[in-house]
Amino acid sequence: MTVSIDTDLRDLSRQRPEWEPWLAVVQEVLRETADAKWDTVIPDRAEALESKAPLLAGAPIAIESTWLRRWTEQLMRTASRSGTEKMATLKPALQAPADTLPLFKASLCLDEGALKQIALICGADPDAFQAVAALLPVPFLHACNRRWAHSLPQGWVEGYCPVCGAWPAIAEVRGIERGRYFRCGRCAGEWQVNCLVCAYCGMTDHEQLVSLIPEQGGTTRVIDACKRCLGYVKTFTTLQASPAAKVMLDDLASVDLDIAALEHGYKRPQGAGYRFDVTVVDKITDKIFFWRA
Ligand SMILES: [Zn+2]
Ligand SMILES: [Zn+2]
Repeated sequence: MTVSIDTDLRDLSRQRPEWEPWLAVVQEVLRETADAKWDTVIPDRAEALESKAPLLAGAPIAIESTWLRRWTEQLMRTASRSGTEKMATLKPALQAPADTLPLFKASLCLDEGALKQIALICGADPDAFQAVAALLPVPFLHACNRRWAHSLPQGWVEGYCPVCGAWPAIAEVRGIERGRYFRCGRCAGEWQVNCLVCAYCGMTDHEQLVSLIPEQGGTTRVIDACKRCLGYVKTFTTLQASPAAKVMLDDLASVDLDIAALEHGYKRPQGAGYRFDVTVVDKITDKIFFWRA
C-alpha cells in the first residue's frame, strides 16, 4: 500500500476515531488489492457480451478455493475482531469454508438475497455480514480494472460501471478542461460522462438536476442530485484522478455529504446498476506427481 493511502487512513481514523473498527477492515482490503495473485484470476474478456453489459457480466471465473478461503477468513477475522457487537457475530462465518465459492459469487453479483441466506446459515448479523462480504471481491475487481481500464467499451453512456456494473461512488470534475468522470467504489473503474446527467435514470434536463453546495468547503465538494429519481452522486473538483486505492477512502471521507443528501430526501440506490451472473469454479492447480519405479 502506498504511503499516501496509509496517511489518508491515519487521517481518517484521527478525524473519526469511532470508525477505527471499519477502517481496519478497509485497510485489509486495500492491502490485498495490491497483491498480484489476483491478476491470475482475471477472466479472459476482450469485449462485453452485449452493448450495455459490463465486461464482467457472464464471465467464467476460475479461482483457487484454498486461497480464496484464506482471504475470506482473513477478512472475516479482521472484521469480527474489530470490536463492535455486530461485527463479532461474523465469527461463525469463519467455520463455513464450504461456502467460499458461492459467497464470492454472491458478493461479486451483489446478490442481497443469497448473502442474507448465507448470513442466516452462519448465524451472523445480516447487515454486518453483507457489509463485509461486499468487500470480498474488491481485490479481484481492482485487478480486472487494472487489466481492462484501457480497453473499455468506447462511448460508454450508462450510469453504471463498465467493468463491474456498480453505481458510481463519486464523480470527479477534473483539471482545467473540467472533464466529468464517474468512479466506481468497487473496482475503482472510471468512465467519462459528457454532460451533467443522472447516473441512475439518465435525466439530462437541467431543470431536474440540482447541485447542493455545503455551507462550508466551497464548491469543490457538491452533491449532484436528480429531482426525478431522487438519486445523488457526490462530486469533487480535482486536478487529476484519484488513485484506484483512494476512491473508497474519498467516498468514506465525504460521509458528511451523504448525510446532507439524505436530509434533503435524496438517496443512493441499493444493489448493482446492472445485474448479471457469473460462473465461479474452483481452479485446481496442476500438481506434478512423482512415482517411484
Ligand atoms: Zn466497477
Ligand atoms: Zn435520476
